[in-house]
Amino acid sequence: MHQKNLWQETSKEKIAFGNLKKSITTDLVVIGGGFTGCSAALFAAKSGLSVTLIDQKIGYGGSGRNVGLVNAGLWMPPEKVESILGLDAGSKLNNALASAPDLVFSLIDSNQINCSANRSGTLHCAHSEKGLKDLRLRFKQLSERGADLELLDKKQTQQRIGSSKFFGSLFNKKAGVINPLDYCFGLARAAKSNGVNIYESTLANSIQSINNDWLVNTPEGSIKAKMLLVATNAYQKPIKGLNPSKYTSVQYFQVATKSLSLDQVKSVLPNGEGCWDTASVMSSFRLDADNRLIIGGIGNLDHSVSKIHTNWAIRKVEKLFPHLKNITIDFSWHGRIAMTGDHIPKILRLGNNAYSVFGYSGRGIGPGTYFGKAVSEFLISGNKDSLPVNPVDYYQEPFSKIKGNFIEMGATASHLL
Ligand SMILES: Cc1cc2nc3c(=O)[nH]c(=O)nc-3n(C[C@H](O)[C@H](O)[C@H](O)COP(=O)(O)OP(=O)(O)OC[C@H]3O[C@@H](n4cnc5c(N)ncnc54)[C@H](O)[C@@H]3O)c2cc1C
Repeated sequence: MHQKNLWQETSKEKIAFGNLKKSITTDLVVIGGGFTGCSAALFAAKSGLSVTLIDQKIGYGGSGRNVGLVNAGLWMPPEKVESILGLDAGSKLNNALASAPDLVFSLIDSNQINCSANRSGTLHCAHSEKGLKDLRLRFKQLSERGADLELLDKKQTQQRIGSSKFFGSLFNKKAGVINPLDYCFGLARAAKSNGVNIYESTLANSIQSINNDWLVNTPEGSIKAKMLLVATNAYQKPIKGLNPSKYTSVQYFQVATKSLSLDQVKSVLPNGEGCWDTASVMSSFRLDADNRLIIGGIGNLDHSVSKIHTNWAIRKVEKLFPHLKNITIDFSWHGRIAMTGDHIPKILRLGNNAYSVFGYSGRGIGPGTYFGKAVSEFLISGNKDSLPVNPVDYYQEPFSKIKGNFIEMGATASHLL
């Protein structure tokens, strides 16, 4: 199937920037225009820094390809985060990311970002009895830490989703769905109107530390800056002078149906929640603003047997919503997730006043926006308290290629069933 990204095709926030053709000096240079880079640039400019952001295209990476679930926290239950980082550091990260949806939706409101935001909540859906047990555990742990959640039984879940396939679900009413590419474009627009110089068709070719400054070379220009943020996550193009970020690359794909008729849609997610399930080869589903049903799962659409993934998605639509049998699929696309071994995002110190942020492990709308803001505050103040995790000087991800291949093989095998 020819790939066509729904978010690109239906985008309402129109932005475009020229490329850099000169040598300039700025306080902060940001490489990468996804959620992280755009958020960092916006908040740094609001604090009075002169900021330059470069990318080949705003939203080219994961930010323009994702499901659009604006979630609180990480994928892992909060106790797991605390057991990995220790109680104090884990609680700090959990608290920070619990507030991330508020940050995202307040940015959307204050900058009037046209991204079809629907804060109708999300449903984490139990695909089995075991999945329901996991949700009970998450409900307990998250509620103890102040989250306002509802654990829904099978019948309540069926009423909300319009499908009888789930054993229950965890409803988070503070979460929601957006068109992620338009959110990213809107952040870039807000950054621009706060004075950020943005250049597209402008890749960083090399970085170099010279005395106390950073020099970023691009094909037709250069940027000298006191501070540097690399925000390239899973889409880093080679940059001389910078070791490639270390993560396991996991592919996630989605298909979108044609718009459902009023008759077809009335029993499908009538409140518009975004959903994902508890299966280890996870899948997601939601409606877009034009009532297309979007189904996603782990899988790469670029390899020779990728039809296995899209055929699975077509069967999944029918399994969840039998009345949608044979519905036309209009869009399919995929993207790369930067997964870290412990599923915790990393802030890597590259040198004096220079950091790289990556490894959101599949949850980057809230976290990317939050980390971008926090790193820009840290660069200005030097106070680590604003950071959700402590920076590290070194990060390795052993066997990442093997792990990535293994995950793809597992997803392909499970999608054959
Ligand atoms: C298919 C998919 C589904 C997902 N679903 C969700 C979801 O529902 N909810 C959620 O919270 N998260 C989700 N995620 C995760 C989320 O999308 C990412 O974590 C997030 O987009 C990362 O943002 P970022 O700004 O750090 O990186 P990116 O958005 O990947 O941006 C990096 C940018 O760096 C640029 N770049 C790379 N190299 C250079 C260079 N040399 N010079 C200049 N620019 C460069 C790239 O072009 C790119 O635009 C999903 C991810 C994928 C792939």
